[in-house]
Amino acid sequence: MSLIKDYRIKPDSQINLKDYNPSDTGPFKDKNEAVEDVEADRQKLIVLQERLYAEKRRSLLIVLQGMDTSGKDGTITHVMSGVNPQGVQVTGFGPPSPEELAHDYLWRVHQAVPSRGHLGIFNRSHYEDVLVVRVHQLVPEKVWRARYQQINDFERQLNESGTTILKFFLHISKDEQKKRLQDRLDDATKNWKFNIGDLAERKLWDDYQQAYEDALGKCSTDDAPWHIVPANRKWYRNYLIMRTIVETLEKMNPQYPPPPPDLGKVVIED
Ligand code: AMP
Ligand code: MG
Repeated sequence: MSLIKDYRIKPDSQINLKDYNPSDTGPFKDKNEAVEDVEADRQKLIVLQERLYAEKRRSLLIVLQGMDTSGKDGTITHVMSGVNPQGVQVTGFGPPSPEELAHDYLWRVHQAVPSRGHLGIFNRSHYEDVLVVRVHQLVPEKVWRARYQQINDFERQLNESGTTILKFFLHISKDEQKKRLQDRLDDATKNWKFNIGDLAERKLWDDYQQAYEDALGKCSTDDAPWHIVPANRKWYRNYLIMRTIVETLEKMNPQYPPPPPDLGKVVIED
């Protein structure tokens, strides 16, 4: 039985985040027990990514969402270390620019979808359009309510066009966020990450959790499943995400393209 199934959300679920323990570490007692597995997965990922790149027929999109300090950046650093940077496309989504606002909300997202052969990572995503946009009432309720279905349709279309999608919600506790924000204040090398605006968002914690519960429950599909990743322990977060990516790529099983027919007859002259 695959461990990942425990964290994958079934389509049309009613999610209550209080039922999910952000400090869960699955079968492991501590980090040391997971170290070897995660390094073995990294080696697998490096080979699988090369095959995906060589095959150039399909792509894999990884969507990362979570509250401030939940570890989206750290996950990207960890998962991507060692892979060929030419085969990876990382995109962060901040507040939309005037040009982006002049288009539909999926316009900027669609452009960032990884091209064939690539592994794409979204640091935040179109889900912000049913999260921050909902919490701050940036559009009327009728508009954001319609988006869950639109997002499912969009992701299904991407899937049918050769993009496999995996979505991860990095689930931390409110206490853990406090610690991490405090750390950004105390550690001079982390001061640059401290954003005073994060404190205002923290006050809206419950509203965000509710918005996440809806997004996770309504938009987990067989085409593009959501995973609730316990993220209080960084090492377990990294382990689980790495495991899920490797398992998914193994299922995709990308192949090196067949060599041109007459390759055996090629002679390289001195
Ligand atoms: P960071 O991930 O720390 O760089 O912050 C990016 C900020 O952009 C977050 O506060 C997001 O909520 C915000 N953001 C991302 N997408 C949108 C959106 N569609 N509308 C408004 N704010 C957004
Ligand atoms: Mg931030």
